[in-house]
Amino acid sequence: MLQQRGTQMATEAPLQFRDPDAATELADRLEELMNEISEPVNVMHVCGSHEQAIAKFGLRSLLPDGLSVRMGPGCPVCVTNMPEVDEAVSLAEDGAIVVTYGDMYRVPGTSKSLADASAEGADVEIIYSVSEAVELAEEHPEREVVFFATGFETTAAPTAAVLAAGVPDNFSVLSAHKYVPPAMEVVAALPETDIDGFLAAGHAATITGYELFEDFVDEYQIPVVVGGFEPLDVLLGIERLLELIRDERAGLENAYPRCVSEEGNTAALDILWDVFEPTAGEWRGIANIPDANLIIREQYADYDARKRFDIEPDTGAANPLTEQCLCGDIMAGTADPDECALFGEECTPANPVGACMVSSEGTCKIWLEYGGRPDL
Ligand code: SF4
Repeated sequence: MLQQRGTQMATEAPLQFRDPDAATELADRLEELMNEISEPVNVMHVCGSHEQAIAKFGLRSLLPDGLSVRMGPGCPVCVTNMPEVDEAVSLAEDGAIVVTYGDMYRVPGTSKSLADASAEGADVEIIYSVSEAVELAEEHPEREVVFFATGFETTAAPTAAVLAAGVPDNFSVLSAHKYVPPAMEVVAALPETDIDGFLAAGHAATITGYELFEDFVDEYQIPVVVGGFEPLDVLLGIERLLELIRDERAGLENAYPRCVSEEGNTAALDILWDVFEPTAGEWRGIANIPDANLIIREQYADYDARKRFDIEPDTGAANPLTEQCLCGDIMAGTADPDECALFGEECTPANPVGACMVSSEGTCKIWLEYGGRPDL
């Protein structure tokens, strides 16, 4: 019988970055380091993909006593502000075809999500890449197609590349893109978060490079390690952080060198900053953060939906349960999902109250999916 090349190895040997023996060794090393530090340590990661890896592979169960690893503002869908969703809903209700990534579809605005608008007859399409959005505009030259663009620098760069390359006249972008480093500064400055070290997101750093964090480390005197997303990547990143914390050294390390370089993807960065400029903006439930929202520069104003259309959302009445949502506190690292009275009860993936229960990168959804605190 023919055997597909590679399957023999896959069944007999663990995947390189999921090797349980190596994970156990790293877990032992974390315990050693915590014994040397001999006081509680709070580490924050800034990425839903890190939280997924931690939950999916049960990595919290390997952590020694006294070591807490929390998720910060690392879910771009979750930090998309309600008024931004309201703008997208308004454009769809006014007759545009609004296209967006799947995670945004069900994120509640003040009173409606794009899914609600779609159910009422608005034209909302889910796409997997910005190129698909442009193709849709080419297929419907008689309609306005608005790309509701969310995500951090990793997804902002492709949006910028498409605009820089030229798009159809009936295509525009409603930017809700965000830029992570200023948000880390805000969270680091919150006295209640008390963070001893940051595990920075490896995929964003493939674009920005790890040198970007040098100023942050110097200013806040908090160590930063850039980490990848396989279980061993996460454990290795935490180990490097604990070494820096033990040595009382505010250092910067790259624990994901197979993908991240010092300077990043300079071509992508050039395009990103050619099309977008940073401005202050509200991150849902967290704060108004200087330089953390990416808006389209004047030279691309023709393709900026906010400049092309008069957007006047009719928001309607807000869901009263929203007031109980702790999503902002969770992303600031000051609360956990199971501290929310609505977690898994009134708020579920089928009926989300807050954005953290919608996205596959949202802490509440991840915790519910993987069984809550005892199993994480
Ligand atoms: Fe918000 Fe729902 Fe999470 Fe509670 S469980 S914090 S309501 S998203």
